[in-house]
Amino acid sequence: MDPLNHDKYPNLLRPLQVGHITLRNRTLMGSMHTGLEEVRGGFERLAAYFAERARGGVGLIVTGGVSPNREGWLKPFAVKLSNEREARKHRVITDAVHAEGGAICLQVLHSGRYGYHPLCVAPSKIKSPISMFKPRAMSDRKIEKTIQAFVRCAEMAKLGGYDGVEIMGSEGYLINQFIATRTNHRDDRWGGTYENRIRFALEIVRRTRAAVGSDFIIIFRLSMLDLVDGGSTWDEVVTLAKLLEEAGVSIINTGIGWHEARIPTIATMVPRASFSWVTQRMMGEVSIPLVTSNRINMPGVAERVLADGHADMVSMARPFLADPELVVKAEQGREDEINTCIACNQACLDHAFKNKIASCLVNPRACHETEIVSKKVAQPKRIAVVGAGPAGLAFSTEAAERGHDVTLFDAASEIGGQFNMAKKIPGKEEFHETIRYFGRRLELTGVSLKLGQRQSADDLLEGAYDEIVLATGVHPRRINIDGEDHPKVLKYTEVLAEEREVGDKVAVIGSGGIGFDVSEYLTHTGESTGLSIPTYLTEWGIDPENVARGGIEGVEAEHSPAAREVIMMQRSEGRLGSRLGKTTGWIHRATLKHKSVEMLPNVEYLKVDDRGLHIRNKSTDREEVLDVDNVIICAGQIPNRDLFDSLRASGANVHLIGGADEAAELDAKRAIDQGTRLAVSI
Ligand code: FAD
Ligand code: NAP
Ligand code: SF4
Repeated sequence: MDPLNHDKYPNLLRPLQVGHITLRNRTLMGSMHTGLEEVRGGFERLAAYFAERARGGVGLIVTGGVSPNREGWLKPFAVKLSNEREARKHRVITDAVHAEGGAICLQVLHSGRYGYHPLCVAPSKIKSPISMFKPRAMSDRKIEKTIQAFVRCAEMAKLGGYDGVEIMGSEGYLINQFIATRTNHRDDRWGGTYENRIRFALEIVRRTRAAVGSDFIIIFRLSMLDLVDGGSTWDEVVTLAKLLEEAGVSIINTGIGWHEARIPTIATMVPRASFSWVTQRMMGEVSIPLVTSNRINMPGVAERVLADGHADMVSMARPFLADPELVVKAEQGREDEINTCIACNQACLDHAFKNKIASCLVNPRACHETEIVSKKVAQPKRIAVVGAGPAGLAFSTEAAERGHDVTLFDAASEIGGQFNMAKKIPGKEEFHETIRYFGRRLELTGVSLKLGQRQSADDLLEGAYDEIVLATGVHPRRINIDGEDHPKVLKYTEVLAEEREVGDKVAVIGSGGIGFDVSEYLTHTGESTGLSIPTYLTEWGIDPENVARGGIEGVEAEHSPAAREVIMMQRSEGRLGSRLGKTTGWIHRATLKHKSVEMLPNVEYLKVDDRGLHIRNKSTDREEVLDVDNVIICAGQIPNRDLFDSLRASGANVHLIGGADEAAELDAKRAIDQGTRLAVSI
């Protein structure tokens, strides 16, 4: 190991004593449910997934949430741990992590009223806004049994070989539901005063410590900022932290925001390390170590947080999906090789909400380690790849890594394809990291890169390649109305890539991901919330002093004015943006609402002329003219297969990937996944 990088990351790479264990550095891989917990053969796959992260240098791993009993399930038949038979199944995971020199804790999570099933329970019978099931209020006896279930779960975790447990006390799950008046309306010894409301948390910790002994880590995930009305005050949070320490907690992890909070806390438009200041206020209040979290995605960010005294350790969850070797790359001075999490949520959280196995947009191997296996080839082929967008980049680097001789062409002067437009959207600045990552991978894998070279079928045939991969992306769709070529009309590519001038009043045709992004781009003023913590806190109404209850009560959000007037439209009925990502769509809708963007569904486009855009409202059958300066077309795309037929007809071995293969429902997740899977099989 290069000692220089210990100089560069003196805090991050320093060991930390937690309870009876000395962790090798200050990185914690935060808890993430992957979906593997519930599938056949999932524990073996989890073992490979966690072992890869342990090998990559993570200091301490925390598993996805495991319920202590059936009522605590997140969904029917979700993973639980309450007996020895279940505990033995975990050995494959803990042994694999320990064999790599890592340490691992099991997260004990009781979902309470967030449970998506009819058995769910809560302190009081109050339905959550994010589950259709109304919980049953817990009796005194039920509370006692639930505490015992938490303790038993920790004992079983110890039997299963874990180094400790993380007791999930934040994000609005059961323990948090007891703590907050928002969800606890009881008048017995478990409700009413703060002392009563925190009794449940403290009893769980106290009795768990008594049962597991001193040679076992207990992490408590404490909600330091609830971001909902009826949450805790800062003084209450500090009181609880001190009592948790007394009760036997080894280390406190920071929880930010309940799942039902209407404030984004981890999506890409949230600035890096935007909540470390919250943990920093707790430093010195307790003598056990504190972990901070949320949007810490690169070693430099983590080092700064620690150097500034904001925490003793940093939690990174999704960044370890994106790159299992993040720590080792930092240690070896290979930061430019890190595949950075861009906080898109598209393959991790969005999958979890759709009951799909989690993965990562920028790293399709995540949670598929045993399925996507890269092996060196015995007989290298000469391969031409056309298009250096996400699909072509993923294919080229993986194929070259395996030993193929790859030449990558792009007509543009830079790599990245449509990601070069995505990174210009305010709040999506992180997307440039993926282009940086692939740029370095091209160098390392020895891909021959030819920029500024538009390829024709003849060019490619002349090269006499063994295989040709077309990753040529898409063409914007034309909408075939009168006046489509009027000077007022612009394609989204002309606005974003060519940066053509746009007037003060604009109609946007199409409300998919690109329609929303273009509208954000056109209405945005001031600093990007993605880059400035003060701007982000102000725009989302978060008290930077954290005096307000829950961090938000009584705080008015302040929005910068819109740069121009925008009207968004779609032909179909229903709410605009309903097909956007489950965990991010609501943020885009809220952002545009703050910019007073008008949203019109059920519209027929008639024509464009000097007066503007003529439309018919299909609900009322009324026609009107929108007096706009520009009409921007964001009406989806069609595959760019211009080269395919002639190459095929000439007998070349041609493959289509990404948008060139299929434009419907195309996103970078599919493009990168398809490119990678073809590369490991060719
Ligand atoms: P492209 O990225 O289109 O790349 C194709 C490349 O081929 C281009 O570089 C082009 O120059 C080159 N090319 C074409 N023909 C030739 C030729 N004959 N010779 C040489 N080169 C050629 N996706 C997400 O998943 N999440 C997002 O948040 C997201 N946001 C987006 C925001 C915007 C504003 C835009 C425009 C797109 C966004 N996307 C997003 C979509 C995502 O960027 C695309 O799905 C992805 O880029 C498709 O990858 P691709 O490699 O198939 O094609
Ligand atoms: P899209 O999501 O398919 O949306 C296309 C829009 O155009 C729809 O609103 C559609 O609505 C409209 N439309 C389709 N055909 C039309 C026609 N002939 N005339 C007029 N309107 C038409 O495509 P996109 O917005 O171009 O996005 C492309 C891909 O990039 C998406 O699949 C998305 O996953 C990805 N992306 C993702 C994000 C993200 O944040 N996750 C951001 C940007 C892009 P109607 O048919 O109702 O009119
Ligand atoms: Fe990060 Fe997106 Fe990958 Fe999730 S899918 S880990 S948010 S890059």
